[in-house]
Amino acid sequence: MDRPRITIFDTTLRDGEQSPGCSMNVQEKLRLAQQLDRLGVDVIEAGFPIASDGDFEAVQRIAASVRRPIIAGLARACTGDVDRAWQALQGAAHPRIHIFLATSDIHLKYKLRITREQCLEQARNAVRHAKSLCADVEFSPEDATRTDVAFLCQVVEAVIEAGATTVNIPDTVGYTMPEEYGQLIRTLHEKVAGIDKVVISSHCHNDLGLAVANSLAGVQNGARQVECTINGIGERAGNASLEEIVMAMRVRPDRYGYETAVASEHLFSSSQMLAEITRVPVQPNKAIIGRNAFAHEAGIHQDGMLKNPLTYEIMTPQSVGVPDSRLVLGKHSGRHALALRCEQLGHQFERRELDEIYRRFVVLADRIKKVQDSHLLELIQDVTSGMVSNPETAGGHSKRFPPATATLPYSRVASAAAGGISAGNSADGHPAHVAGSAGQAQVTIPFAEHHGEQEDYLWGV
Ligand SMILES: [Zn+2]
Repeated sequence: MDRPRITIFDTTLRDGEQSPGCSMNVQEKLRLAQQLDRLGVDVIEAGFPIASDGDFEAVQRIAASVRRPIIAGLARACTGDVDRAWQALQGAAHPRIHIFLATSDIHLKYKLRITREQCLEQARNAVRHAKSLCADVEFSPEDATRTDVAFLCQVVEAVIEAGATTVNIPDTVGYTMPEEYGQLIRTLHEKVAGIDKVVISSHCHNDLGLAVANSLAGVQNGARQVECTINGIGERAGNASLEEIVMAMRVRPDRYGYETAVASEHLFSSSQMLAEITRVPVQPNKAIIGRNAFAHEAGIHQDGMLKNPLTYEIMTPQSVGVPDSRLVLGKHSGRHALALRCEQLGHQFERRELDEIYRRFVVLADRIKKVQDSHLLELIQDVTSGMVSNPETAGGHSKRFPPATATLPYSRVASAAAGGISAGNSADGHPAHVAGSAGQAQVTIPFAEHHGEQEDYLWGV
């Protein structure tokens, strides 16, 4: 039996980009949009065109070059905003205008200073105008979860009548609880005329750490689109995290029998790319894509993992694209292996660029034996930023590239324990750090062997 399909609406470039420290330039947004396309999201909210010329340009350029997904642009409920959004979006293969207007009494009274009747009229007019330009129109009643439910139903009905095709129910302030949010979606389904003609969407913020739980409760009660972001970035405590939503449905189809089109093996590289662009690191214990998400340090866990990974692993690192650290990058690694690791870290290169990266990589690997992901990222940055340096010193100074004893960021029990590394508790009672290049060397699988070929070994050096 076919499972209901959930539309994944990514707003990393809009809601995420609005969060402190996460702003991106046009080039960076374009690069991330291409990665989101690779990841398989259905909708990319590319920006808020009237907010700035930079936002406008980013939406326009993404619309022109990313052709598979729907490209959405945000607009307040007024003609100027809608027109500007449409101007940016009209070159898109699949454009969507996304209009928002607050509906809670507190926002109407203190922020907008309008009555409920004026709000209703403004929402209806804006959607009608957008519909005259674009077939795909989404409407969001901002602060929906703190809006009087009867009034919310009235607004939703009015925008459906005016031509909206998706109605999003934002928990703008991250206030709702899972049962409550689920109930709200169910009420809309029961009370609003014409609701079956539109897609209901969830948009939950994480102020109480419930954004993902609330979104899933929405889905269980009839929402068929989830708005979310890579690494859960977004206003204040962030949005629902895309990777958690997708993997919750994939790991527990018995509880959440829904499908998404996301290619989960690109989750890790997407997360890495965003962290690298924004320079906002991912917390180590972040679900799915954090550095420790697949690290097992406790002795009993390691023992279980070695006997059967299913003892402690509910999904494989490979299923979300976490590179297998047992495959250490060293000077025997070939170009294919290097290209694969670059891709896993969110970088895809043309042949010429890869040639240069490979040339420098070999020089570096000769010096430090094992090239960590962090080293590789610095090297990539040097090459892509056009930094000219002597190949003999490529990779910089020893300060930037510590000796090869540094721990691998994604070491898993199999490599650590098989290498005879102590994983017991240290004197202070904390688990000892899994470390030691000597131990790992015993289980290193050279890439050249792994791929059964050495045709590109030391290519170009
Ligand atoms: Zn938001």
